Amino acid sequence: MHEMALCESVVRILEEQAHEQGFAKVTVVRMAIGQLSQVELESFRFCFGAVAQGTLAAGAQLDIETPDGKAWCLDCRRDIRLARLGEACPDCGGYALQITGGEEMRITELEVE
Ligand SMILES: [Zn+2]
Repeated sequence: MHEMALCESVVRILEEQAHEQGFAKVTVVRMAIGQLSQVELESFRFCFGAVAQGTLAAGAQLDIETPDGKAWCLDCRRDIRLARLGEACPDCGGYALQITGGEEMRITELEVE
């Protein structure tokens, strides 16, 4: 499962940070997962809980922000909001779009002990 692999890499990053910064436990993980990142949030949360078991992130709270999808429409020559990949420009109905935001997936903040 795609989400399982993502959660494993998040926990790996947390372990690296813990090693570098010398903390032993993560209590809150804040993340930004863009609306165009193709990550299923429900499944991501579920996998995170499972993957975190027995690690420094066991029982950590997961706060997820979901930045809007954005694209540049080559025909309208302006930024538009895009709810999902594969959608047309809401103004001209065209598909000449360059994604400019909402594909990110990153850890924004940690609370640690
Ligand atoms: Zn357009």
